[in-house]
Amino acid sequence: MAAALDRGLERARQRMLTRHLAGRGIGDQRVIDAMAVVPRELFAPRGRAHEAYADRPLPIGMGQTISQPYMVARMAEALELSPGDRVLEVGTGSGYSAAVLGRLCTAVYTVERHTSLAEGARALLHKLGYDSVRVRYGDGSLGWPEHAPYDAIVVAAAGPGVPGSLRDQLGPGGRLVMPLGTGGGRQALVRERRSAMGGFSREELGSVRFVPLIGDEGWA
Ligand code: SAH
Repeated sequence: MAAALDRGLERARQRMLTRHLAGRGIGDQRVIDAMAVVPRELFAPRGRAHEAYADRPLPIGMGQTISQPYMVARMAEALELSPGDRVLEVGTGSGYSAAVLGRLCTAVYTVERHTSLAEGARALLHKLGYDSVRVRYGDGSLGWPEHAPYDAIVVAAAGPGVPGSLRDQLGPGGRLVMPLGTGGGRQALVRERRSAMGGFSREELGSVRFVPLIGDEGWA
């Protein structure tokens, strides 16, 4: 039974890598390699490990989701990470994307506003040996100022605008990727870059769908 599940998962993981990621234009081999080794089935909700590599988000409790694999890959790729980078993630959720980011850079600081999710992710990441990922419970719309500046910031929830606190915590040359728009509807994925001089430029990366960013610099 366990062996059958393992074989099924292995096939599903290969399908994710070739069809859902590479097949849809994810070109950053480091991202593909990271997602080939992070065991997504352990971050999936209890009893749904067999669906872990499906081409969709999965519910993780508290009305939240573990993002679709393609979306995790697309955001990681958009961050243009180098191995020495330090990254802030807002919206830890299951901890899956933090683990993927942890394989792509030197340190990940991730913030989650639901205690139960933050604690679950922290325990699992620790158990799996992701010691470069640090999880904090709190309002990530305000960032995590103690470890700023960051080389990259990713927000896994959609807000009304880019929080000023997050812009402040982005270092020169840094990239910030986040969805903008109302919960439930279509949102725009944007990337902002901070120039060496401190100015910001914005690109739109397409239409996406995320849960809302709830917080002081998000939705009420
Ligand atoms: N990256 C996650 C998916 C996260 S879904 C994964 O791989 O599983 C978005 C998460 O953002 C949810 O868990 C939600 O609770 C969280 N969130 C929403 N607003 C937040 C805020 N202001 N600060 C921190 N987390 C927030």
